[in-house]
Amino acid sequence: MSKMINTVTGPVSSDSLGKTYIHEHLLFGYPGFQGDFSVAPFNREEALKTCVDTIKPLVEQYGLKTAVDATPNDCGRDVLFMKEVSEKTGLNIIASSGYYYEGEGAPAYFKQRSGMTDIVADIYEMMKLETTVGIEGTGIKAGVFKLASSKDVITDYEKAFFTAAAKVSAEEGIPIITHTQQGTMGPEQADLLIAAGADPKRINIGHMGGSTDIQYHLNTLAKGVYISLDRFGLQQLAGCPADSTREMIIAALCAAGYADRIMLGHDSIIVWKGRPLPLPEAALPLVANWNWGHILKDVVPDLKKLGVSDEQINMMLVENPKRFFGY
Ligand SMILES: [Zn+2]
Repeated sequence: MSKMINTVTGPVSSDSLGKTYIHEHLLFGYPGFQGDFSVAPFNREEALKTCVDTIKPLVEQYGLKTAVDATPNDCGRDVLFMKEVSEKTGLNIIASSGYYYEGEGAPAYFKQRSGMTDIVADIYEMMKLETTVGIEGTGIKAGVFKLASSKDVITDYEKAFFTAAAKVSAEEGIPIITHTQQGTMGPEQADLLIAAGADPKRINIGHMGGSTDIQYHLNTLAKGVYISLDRFGLQQLAGCPADSTREMIIAALCAAGYADRIMLGHDSIIVWKGRPLPLPEAALPLVANWNWGHILKDVVPDLKKLGVSDEQINMMLVENPKRFFGY
């Protein structure tokens, strides 16, 4: 089945998505970055050039066709910027609607309202508008919901977003991607969304590479959902394992017959809003490959060495995103 899906430049057939990264960021800022603009102002022209220079060679030389920009509403999402990058590179970009997890997002706004009003209804209204009419008056529609939960818990605040997104997803056919904190709560996220009305075929549980337990992956897949190993290049930081471990997990899941349920990404940020990430010198080698080119240049050849076939790689990069968005 194919379907027209929302990209930042307008509707595109799911059949034409091609090689797709399921979770990336052009720009990202931890909420609060706006308050530091005196020291670290956002240079739009420079950021635009950096994004175009990063993406264009991947489109031209490696055939990258589509990326989901998973930046939540509260972390500096900028759909007009995405549109400009898309027009200058030829990359399809799918924008998200949703808020980040309670610990690192901006929960004050909806939490303040929650004592006085039904925030599930508020969030439902926002998500419905962003996927059917447009984001912030631009007419650019979100093509996916981005949901997030905390480590070992889905808080009441986070549950409000899951419940609202599941409802709009059921009504409008918009798929859902998630952030699991350090790979925890995958099955619980799936259960919550399905109970709230979402179709498992429209659910993709993200950051699953945070867990190295194959049984945990199988327990999540048993819900009928997709999973993503989408932090390639971010190694041994933020609760992440090494890339080699993630590659072994993928090879094992492919061997167990799950190649048709896995999608890939880096969760890599091209330009940070606010000051750059203050990583210690010792951490730099660990993130040397945390960039948009890593999967197509390095991870795919590594997977082949582990016995993953060309057909299985094509499933993870092309066929699964096509089926996920086209459903
Ligand atoms: Zn992300």
